[in-house]
Amino acid sequence: MTDFVGARTELDVLTEAIDVLSESDPSSLADTDSIERLLREHARIEAIVTRATAAFDVSGNWVADGARTAAAWLVARCRLPKAQAKRLIRRGRELRHLPVVAESWAQGTITAAQVDVMTPLRSPATEEALARDEALLVEQAITLPYRSFVRAAGYWKQLADPDGAESDDETRRARRDVYLESSFGGMWLGRVTLDPISGAIVSGELERLEQKMFDADWAQAKASLGRDPTLALLARTPGQRRADALVEMATRSKTTPSDGHRPGPLFSVLINYTRLQDQVCELADGTVLSPGSLVPWLTEAYLERVVFAPGRRSEVSAQARLFTGGTRRAIELRDRECAHPYCDIPADKCQADHIDPVNEGGVTVEENGRMLCGFHNRLRNIRPPPPDDS
Ligand SMILES: [Zn+2]
Repeated sequence: MTDFVGARTELDVLTEAIDVLSESDPSSLADTDSIERLLREHARIEAIVTRATAAFDVSGNWVADGARTAAAWLVARCRLPKAQAKRLIRRGRELRHLPVVAESWAQGTITAAQVDVMTPLRSPATEEALARDEALLVEQAITLPYRSFVRAAGYWKQLADPDGAESDDETRRARRDVYLESSFGGMWLGRVTLDPISGAIVSGELERLEQKMFDADWAQAKASLGRDPTLALLARTPGQRRADALVEMATRSKTTPSDGHRPGPLFSVLINYTRLQDQVCELADGTVLSPGSLVPWLTEAYLERVVFAPGRRSEVSAQARLFTGGTRRAIELRDRECAHPYCDIPADKCQADHIDPVNEGGVTVEENGRMLCGFHNRLRNIRPPPPDDS
């Protein structure tokens, strides 16, 4: 009983503190330290809410109001969307099995986003391994950028439960669906749902054609204006170019015999590289795949297989001034995105840059290369990017 009264009093203190913050000038909290602290406290409060909701669920305190479940009570009384109420209850239940995750969330070193990556890792097949590796995974959740952590968690699941990972991939593939229907006024409406490999193939080609159309639009606008145009002055919007690219894909498909020579590569798979894991199998965008899901695509021309091995590789002369060909591609696939820690521009839209500049004796080998987007490549000439500690 004392604890209950104690917690109520603390809640009053929290309300008062938030009242004070609410009335303060937002610009007084706009420095980097305050923003980081605010988000950390936000995560901690969310952890407290989740824990309390889990206890509420178990307590049955919602029964007296005639609610059928705790989630139904949250929907009615707190006006939460049903999905959000269910997620809150589910997180709370899962968290009881993951003490290290719960502790880290309570400290604000991880947020609900990382928690939601970790809770689905638990299944009857992985329970034991998860109990063993939970602290390791939480350590990665704390140190890695979110996207890298999602990837690491994917590999962990694959190692802990290879069969489960295969069947997860089968489930993802089974969900593929295309819907295209003639609608009001003769317009066509559609929706596309694709598994990771199919998505990489279709979006890769769509993007390639859209880029060509962008270049053409740009050149045309530049010619008629006599200067570099702004995006708003291009003849087509990105959506219009994607639509045109799709029509172009259909047109080309009709002109090509179905048994014609297949172009390669349709997509890239990265195998066996990173410092963290022994096993790597993923698409160039970082989506983790089960090895089995690649089997249907194993005709050489369909995929670009990139195997990273330790040791030095240089496929062009080390004295060359530019990264080209295989060396550039290796850096692109190794870095995947702009090397600046505050950036995630994909590597194929970046420039390959010398870490040690050529004019200071830097050589053109993979180890001395990194991808930087245009913005960060220009910024580099003003101030070197901070060291990447991920
Ligand atoms: Zn960048």
